Amino acid sequence: MAERAETAGAVETRAWDEIRPPELELIDDCVHCGFCLPTCPTYSLWQEEMDTPRGRIVLMGEGLEKGSDLSSTMVGHLDNCLGCMACVTACPSGVAYDKLLIDARGQIERRYARPRLERLHRRAIFALFTHPGRLRALIPGMALTKPLKLDRLFARWPRIRNLFRLAPPVSLRDIVRRLPERTAAQGTSRGRVAVLQGCVQRAFFGDVNEATVAVLAAEGFDVDAPASPRCCGSLQQHAGESEPARELARETIAAFEDYDVVVSNSAGCGSGMKDYPHLLRDDPAWHERAEAFAEKVKDVTELLAGIEPRAERGPIERKVAYHDACHLAHAQGVRSEPRELLRQIPGLELAEPHGWEFCCGSAGIYNLVNPEPAAELGERKARALIETGADAIAAANPGCSIQIQTHMRELGHEAPILHPIQLLHESIRKGSDV
Ligand code: SF4
Ligand code: SF4
Repeated sequence: MAERAETAGAVETRAWDEIRPPELELIDDCVHCGFCLPTCPTYSLWQEEMDTPRGRIVLMGEGLEKGSDLSSTMVGHLDNCLGCMACVTACPSGVAYDKLLIDARGQIERRYARPRLERLHRRAIFALFTHPGRLRALIPGMALTKPLKLDRLFARWPRIRNLFRLAPPVSLRDIVRRLPERTAAQGTSRGRVAVLQGCVQRAFFGDVNEATVAVLAAEGFDVDAPASPRCCGSLQQHAGESEPARELARETIAAFEDYDVVVSNSAGCGSGMKDYPHLLRDDPAWHERAEAFAEKVKDVTELLAGIEPRAERGPIERKVAYHDACHLAHAQGVRSEPRELLRQIPGLELAEPHGWEFCCGSAGIYNLVNPEPAAELGERKARALIETGADAIAAANPGCSIQIQTHMRELGHEAPILHPIQLLHESIRKGSDV
């Protein structure tokens, strides 16, 4: 499994090969201070040094040494990482753990032989979740699953049962729902922006995309929402499926680079697109284009919090707990903007759950491939949100919404999980009725 190279008659082994390995310079930034440990969810679960950011960075460094091996132990500790980037926020030395992890995972997925079932499971996830058309084809079955308790048919297949458990609520309308490719600004235009429709977001959270376009238009933007690409590749990028991620990154850049602003309403997609320069750093034809593109990417809350509001906000009398999606709060450093937008809504009381920095366990494909620790973290997060006494939750990432809804429901608590843009949309609709 490790790379073997003949050097002056001797055979050298190394865990990482020469194709985008974790960079020594970034590894050396870690001074082993341990400040990141208290915010690391896997350390909080297992109290195991090799399941901390510091321990994983040590493993990545060892992988560069001659004689190292891409062992199942090393892969296990790196697989255990949620990629939540709470350690990036906590680190006083500015260690770029996000870049290190993506590169380590890229090596693992390209070179490590996973057991057959696990390999097929991962392949099936990407063959499904990054294709909105295939996801839409599942909607009729998903709509019937809960009322008919179809998940019981899969009692002997825990991976499939877990998929049913996490299935978001859908309606048959989601099969035919499509965003208009062009929406005109209301009033004088502030300029044209492009919205990424995404894959899971487009298939299962079409109402979030509709609210995004409606709010941007109400705030004076002409909005384009191109149907392609089908997916920005962030799910693959964060899981180490580098080649398909690079292909989708190139397609996304080509589709959007002529716009001045590219808007994302999904934390994972936004952080993935902002990381394209790293993903394409050794591609001479695309690296500069990736850098220029990444500069234009903004989370919708970032864009809206940075402008003077135009549309009247109507009241929403609700207590709303804000959940920080890791790929927004930690990976993009966007924490105050969604809160600012929610505070613009008259009557809305904003609640803060304890442990805001802890991941909910969704983490891209984590709750599909590591269901037990993901469920433990999901239950913790659901309890923290319920304790706020809020009657609705705001979360800016589809994976978080699915995970939180599942665990709140399993604790017997049914509160709506809304994207902040949906609350803003409701408020603007009420404001325009006055
Ligand atoms: S990304 Fe999250 S789970 Fe992974 S080491 Fe950092 S804090 Fe821990
Ligand atoms: S990653 Fe940062 S906070 Fe964590 S041990 Fe290294 S230097 Fe310290």
